[in-house]
Formats: sequence, C-alpha cells, structure tokens
Amino acid sequence: MPDAIDWQARVQTLEFRQGLFFDGSFHPALSGKTYSSTNPATGQIQDEVASGDIADVDLAVASARKAFERGEWSSAAPETRKTVLLKLADLMREHAVELALLETLDMGKRIQDAFEVDVPSSAATVQWYAEAVDKIYGELAPSGPGSVGMIERMPLGVVAAIVPWNFPLTMAIWKLAPALAAGNSVVLKPSEQSPHSVLRLAELAIEAGLPSGVFNVITGLGSIVGQALGRHLDVDCLAFTGSTEVGKQLMKYSAESNMKPVWLECGGKSPNLVFADTDDLDMAAEMACYGIFGSQGQICSANSRLFVERSIYEQFLQLLREKSKAYIPGDPLDSKSGSGVMVDQRHADSVLRYIAIGAEEGQIVFGGEAGPLPASVMPTVISSVSNSSRIAQEEVFGPVLVVIPFEDETDAVRMANDSCYGLAASVWTGSISRAHRVARQLRVGTVSVNTMDAISLATPFGGFKQTGFGRDLSLHAFDKYSGLKTTWIHYNHK
Ligand code: NAD
Repeated sequence: MPDAIDWQARVQTLEFRQGLFFDGSFHPALSGKTYSSTNPATGQIQDEVASGDIADVDLAVASARKAFERGEWSSAAPETRKTVLLKLADLMREHAVELALLETLDMGKRIQDAFEVDVPSSAATVQWYAEAVDKIYGELAPSGPGSVGMIERMPLGVVAAIVPWNFPLTMAIWKLAPALAAGNSVVLKPSEQSPHSVLRLAELAIEAGLPSGVFNVITGLGSIVGQALGRHLDVDCLAFTGSTEVGKQLMKYSAESNMKPVWLECGGKSPNLVFADTDDLDMAAEMACYGIFGSQGQICSANSRLFVERSIYEQFLQLLREKSKAYIPGDPLDSKSGSGVMVDQRHADSVLRYIAIGAEEGQIVFGGEAGPLPASVMPTVISSVSNSSRIAQEEVFGPVLVVIPFEDETDAVRMANDSCYGLAASVWTGSISRAHRVARQLRVGTVSVNTMDAISLATPFGGFKQTGFGRDLSLHAFDKYSGLKTTWIHYNHK
C-alpha cells in the first residue's frame, strides 16, 4: 500500500459521473428522476444518481443494437478488438486511484482492497480477454469429399449484464470483458448502491476507442431497470450475478418474453472442512477467518460454514478467537483498518438480525454485535449450532462464521453437501488421498485444498444447485456470449 497516497485529500477532488451512459455519452433519465447515493461509512449523502425507467432502457438497448448492426465492433478484426481492450486495461490502471475510491465510497470496502486487489485484477481480466481474442480458432467438421462444414463462434448481439454491489467493478468486468471480446454490445445495470466506478469505466472505454453504443450503463432500481432488461425483446442474453431470489425472477422474465439465455451466479453458503491431520492448523485458522471476514463476509464464495474434526474442535475455536481480532471494522479510507463497513445500514441491520438468530441457535464465541462505525458489524463466530439451523443454512452475506464439529470424513462430506447452494468449498488435510476423495464428493464449482477461495483468470468460476449455472472467467466464459454457427460449403470435387 503506497502510504504516499492521501486518500482523504483525493476524496476532495473526486468527481461522480452523472447520468445514464448510452450512445457514447451521459444523459439524464427521461423522467428526470434521481436517487441518493450514501457513503455507508459516514451515513452522508454523496451524490444523486440518475434513476432509469423502461423508456431509458429502450434507448440504451436500441443504441446497443444499432452499434451491433453497424459492425464496427461486432465484425471488427480480432486484433482491432484486442487493441482497444488492451488500451482500456491500461486506462483502468492509470485511473486506479479514482476507481478504487469510487468503489470504497459507494460500498464501504477497505481502500487497500479496492486499490491493490479489485482494480488491478479487473484490469488484468480485461487484458486476459483482450489477449484471448485473436487466439480462438473455429473448427472444421469431419466431412466427406464435396463439402466443408465450418463451425464458428458468433457474437449473440445485445448482452444485458446485471451485477451486485459487493465487487462493483470486478463483477461487471467478469461479464463485460468476455462479452465485448466476443463482439457483443453490452447494457450494464450496476447495483443501486454502487454505480460510480462503472459509469467512469464507460467513459474510459470510449477513450480507449470502443465505438459508441457498444458499452452502455443504465443506473436505477432492480425492479425497474433490471426487470426491463430481463423482459426486453431485443436483448439476446442476460448475465447475472446476485441473489438466488432475483436470479429466479430473471428466468421467469426470460420465459415470459423472448427466451433469452440467462446465466446465473447467485448465492452461496460455502463449507470449509478442517481435518485433524492438517499440517498447519494455525494457517488453517488464519485462512478460515480471511475466508469469512475478508470484505466483511460480503463475498458469494465466503466460507461461512466451518466443519472441524471433533478431536481438534476446542483448540481450533481458540485459534479462531485470536485470529478474528485482526478484522475489527474501521474507517475504510484508513489503510490500518482491519475491515471496512457493510454496504449500507439496512444490510448491517439484516446481518445483526441473523446474529441474534444465531445467538439463540448456538453460542457466540467472538463478536456478535455492531461495530464502531455506521453500518459496521464485528467479525462474529458462532459455535454449537446444528447444520440444519437457519444460521447454518441461510446466506447471511456478512462476517458471520458458524463452526460445527464432525466425527469422520463421511459425516463432514454429508454436512458440507447439505445446502441448497454449491459455489465453493475448502478442505484442509495432510493426506493427499483424503484431499482427492473429499474434493471429488463435494458438489461445488471450486474446491480449494489447503488454501482458501483459490481463483484465477484461467479457471472457471460458478456453481451448482441454486448457486446457478454458466461460468465466469477462463475461456469457458466465451460459451455464454457466443453461439456456434455451422456453414456448409458444397463444391464439385471431381
Ligand atoms: P441482488 O440480487 O439484490 O441484486 C443484484 C442485482 O440485481 C442488482 O443490480 C439489483 O438492482 C438487481 N435486481 C434486484 N431486483 C431485481 C429484479 N426484480 N429484476 C432484475 N434485477 C433486479 O443482490 P445483491 O444484494 O446486490 O448482492 C448480494 C448477492 O449476490 C448475494 O446473494 C451473493 O451471494 C450474490 N453474489 C453471487 C456471486 C457469484 O458469483 N455466485 C458473486 C457476488 C455476489
């Protein structure tokens, strides 16, 4: 963290972009409506954000469609798309301080997480897909003489992306980068709570050379803007990250409109299994805390259910008590704070209500109360709960860890899989055979062995069960944003 950056001073000169972004520039909502954006760490209103309506969505989708049909982007040579996206990645790095501040002021995460992790990793994602564009080949089908069957990936047209507030830039980029690289136009709907970094991103995309109308951002309410995109007859594909409840709504919108494909990355309640034969229990406890208290637990893959082999259960609880102290919330703009704050007071209150439920279902061994700032919650560890209790089954989306003992491998796997979600899991063991056995049996999209929440641009991210379907990241993401087209050429072979 470069201590040289005076974040408070930078806030004074920060500008919030205003308006809906389509056709290459900002426009006020047709209705003139706005809503207030609040800095959760201070409770102060910081900006008025344009609140889009169905008519604004229509304009943005029309702009995206027009751009798609113009073909400047959709039919551009791969190296042209690559050059523009590489330039965008450079501009994101150049404007990292500004983008990181916009993230922190909108949703309360620690500035060093935004500046050192989120913005650089988002820029790296754009770069990764830029570099992939001119390395993806089509196929030739096996065929007899007289015909050639060519199989190509075609862009779908207009992609709508609806994303949450927990990683505003990163979640948007996970959809945007492969969708744009594949040649689509995109209309992005950020969360109500976190519109500012992607509005700035849209401007940077134009500066990078993206033709106008290819990338559009419509801010406003999920029930209005999100629903309008979900039901739009001229949207060809919907990519969503958010709650399972809204994900189910989007499938309904699609079924009731034009049957657009809907890709869903929804909720999680990820298990973390610690076996007594783990080589480094101290590290396992440290990572267990990082896995649930990092980003205040507002991570879809947060390891919120911890299963510990009974013979080391008490010892492990003691380690958790010690390690949890590193995550006391403080000013998100102070790089020494252990944690930032929750996205808003309403969400903090919801997490505190869950803690009260957990206190009745089990025993609080650390935290269990609000933190010292507005919208802040102490890291909380709850023991002595059953895996069927509400606190162990429902997604809290906050810094709340439940710890449950298990008897043996079968018992651990059974409880880990006893969830309606299937996003991620971690396994800690010194036995390579056990690692393989358990990893195979866990019904989740990613298993991390002797580490926590392992992730890479080169590996797919997503889940099973009610976490959803389709994968972000890796070359597999192109499957969501392109359709396979076969062209048969018949020729006279004699
Ligand atoms: P949310 O579902 O409330 O909102 C997500 C987005 O959907 C927002 O942009 C919102 O405005 C929009 N929306 C809300 N109602 C809508 C409607 N009726 N129609 C269309 N769009 C609508 O989720 P959130 O509170 O912003 O984020 C937290 C959730 O996101 C958690 O459940 C978390 O697990 C999930 N999440 C999942 C992943 C993953 O990769 N699986 C990653 C991050 C977050």
